[in-house]
Amino acid sequence: MAEDRMKFVERADWPDVEAAIADYRAGRDVRHPQALARYERIAPPWGAGKALDLGTGRGQGALILRSKGWHVTAVDIDPEPAELLARNGAGFTRADVTAWVPPGCYDLITCMEVLEHIEDPAALLAEITQWLSPGGRLEVTIPLETKPNGNPWHKHFWTKETILKLLNEYFIVLAEHPAVNHATIWATLRPRPAKLATVSLDDGGWQDIAVCEALRAEGLPATFYLVSTWVDEPHYHIPVARIVGAYEGFEIGCHTRTHADMRYVSPAGAALEAVGAQAELQRIFGRDVSLFSWPKGAVHADALPPVREHFAWARGVRRTGVANRWDTMVSAVCPRVPPAAVLAGRPCVHVVGHAWSLRDRGMLQQFLTLLYDLRDAGFEFVANGEFFAIADKCGGKILAAG
Ligand SMILES: [Zn+2]
Repeated sequence: MAEDRMKFVERADWPDVEAAIADYRAGRDVRHPQALARYERIAPPWGAGKALDLGTGRGQGALILRSKGWHVTAVDIDPEPAELLARNGAGFTRADVTAWVPPGCYDLITCMEVLEHIEDPAALLAEITQWLSPGGRLEVTIPLETKPNGNPWHKHFWTKETILKLLNEYFIVLAEHPAVNHATIWATLRPRPAKLATVSLDDGGWQDIAVCEALRAEGLPATFYLVSTWVDEPHYHIPVARIVGAYEGFEIGCHTRTHADMRYVSPAGAALEAVGAQAELQRIFGRDVSLFSWPKGAVHADALPPVREHFAWARGVRRTGVANRWDTMVSAVCPRVPPAAVLAGRPCVHVVGHAWSLRDRGMLQQFLTLLYDLRDAGFEFVANGEFFAIADKCGGKILAAG
């Protein structure tokens, strides 16, 4: 059976996988560039970790992930890629993925053109949710076809609607990528969480450093919305490198240049406050800043266009429902009890605070304890950007429940 499968042309017909990858990277002609490109483009926010390539085929995907620093295990019923992968420092297990139990969890699982071959894809998807580390991602590609296309090994034929319905039972679709050469869906997925929590800290300041250290020690993600002109050294007498280092691993958002109340600035001033600050933060931190938080939660219509144009998401403080994609969160300023919210039937909490204010009031420990309590109560913490993305996928609306 395995030998027959190998004969089928679905497997990219490179005579030499390593040479094909080298050709692809050098921009030379290669038969199936899209099959290489999608592995090349996988870029989870946290960088390379442990990856599992299910149904690795010739092993090209596992090889690319390995070359990008991932610790890769590849699984396939065919033994063919074993030698190639071993030579390149990747692990290989010959197994039927539907009858296999992995030895641990993975930050990334790739499952490219595999589900349509599986007798019971729903059972495999349910299994995969258990194989991912917290925050882990599944990357899938699946051909979209309504009837057999000549490939005798395809057991399922899905339209985009029917495959998304199946995927949505177990996962949230974080992103859909442009289709490859033929009708194929490529999606980045994360398991559906039971309970979600996200943490925002606004304004920045030296008081953030202790919060970063405490959250890092507990492995809790948070999003820090910074006022760009307050990051510089003269403001707090702290070297910028120390500040940049403190936020490493945490999501950074933009909270304007000067903490301007956007209700009172001109349209040009609003653009400078939002977009100018974004550019400054991106330069200082050397990474993309795509989230925005309105100072004092004050939104003004004149300031909306530049924010909408330049940021993926924006949030307020104690404000909700400004527009569908904007301010989808119910939020509260500590020390108020964060309101419970329901996202597609799941409890959600957004905890908002300001490290300077918590410290001034001697409430920093109380704030942290609240987060630990939420975690102990089974809430999974995600950064704001991921929370927004999940909210968007679930209908973009979080309803106050208390
Ligand atoms: Zn603020």
